[in-house]
Amino acid sequence: MVASEFVHVPDLNLVVQEIAGEMRARADRGNVATYIPELARVDPHQFGLAVIDGDGQVACGGDADVPFSIQSVSKVFTLTLALGKFGDRLWRRVGREPSGSAFNSIVQLEHEHGIPRNPFINPGAIAVTDLILSGHQPREALGEILRFMRFLADDPSVTIDEKVAASEQRTGFRNAALANYMKSYDVLDNPVDLTLGVYFHQCAIAMSCRQLAMAGRFLAHLGRNPATGHSVVTAERARRINAIMLTCGHYDGSGEFAYRVGLPGKSGVGGGILAIAPGKASIAVWSPGLDATGNSHLGRIALEMLTKRLGWSIFA
Ligand code: GLU
Repeated sequence: MVASEFVHVPDLNLVVQEIAGEMRARADRGNVATYIPELARVDPHQFGLAVIDGDGQVACGGDADVPFSIQSVSKVFTLTLALGKFGDRLWRRVGREPSGSAFNSIVQLEHEHGIPRNPFINPGAIAVTDLILSGHQPREALGEILRFMRFLADDPSVTIDEKVAASEQRTGFRNAALANYMKSYDVLDNPVDLTLGVYFHQCAIAMSCRQLAMAGRFLAHLGRNPATGHSVVTAERARRINAIMLTCGHYDGSGEFAYRVGLPGKSGVGGGILAIAPGKASIAVWSPGLDATGNSHLGRIALEMLTKRLGWSIFA
């Protein structure tokens, strides 16, 4: 008899249900993003959690089937898509160091001559989207991004919330400033308004926790979809995307997220977080209220509880 037979493995479904229950009851919920007016209308009392393990077991709690605006979580998928098209040439126009700055900082971009620190801060993601757009019409580029999301989530119903896209398009002055600044350094190939149009729409993709966790499975399983065995990216690329999620996925809150949760993760101002437990599970959590660094307040707390209870931190 081996020692591991005595190790108590908590029931995944039970843990997810318990955490969802605890999160629903909490009074501290953070504040919804207001700089995108349409996001300011979202009810902060919602909470969803979905965990999908390598055997395809799905554990869902709370509002796991309610679609929300994935916002910057989309940047993981556009990075994956762009790396597939351009390979390591992508790193000529964007770095891969943590920024330690806010997601929309202009100061850092000036210091670094228009080259964004990493693909997950806004200018970095805009530069990645610009690459995907090159040689295409905006609607073709957007179609490609949306098809990729539907393919990964194995769900053709994934769609774009046009109201959110229009809302950000009307008020995205800071992103316009960042994009124009990069354009002045020739970091963008396409007209700024076209690149921003695609970027705002990719951020406005609406998905539920269940759909988002489905879409993240390849990152937890060496680049493969565990259900079909089909390869989405190489194991090496999956490992590297996870590394960037760990170091840069929560902007200037990335250190705190690694310290508390111990998993690669990417947040969005819609309140969603995609977290990856390599070899174990793809996890999506959603609670619209944000903390001071623009990351989901209860989302982070829920993930901290989950990794503690399941022993899933990559730091063991
Ligand atoms: N669309 C948002 C922006 O560009 C994304 C920011 C985020 O989710 O962190 O400001």
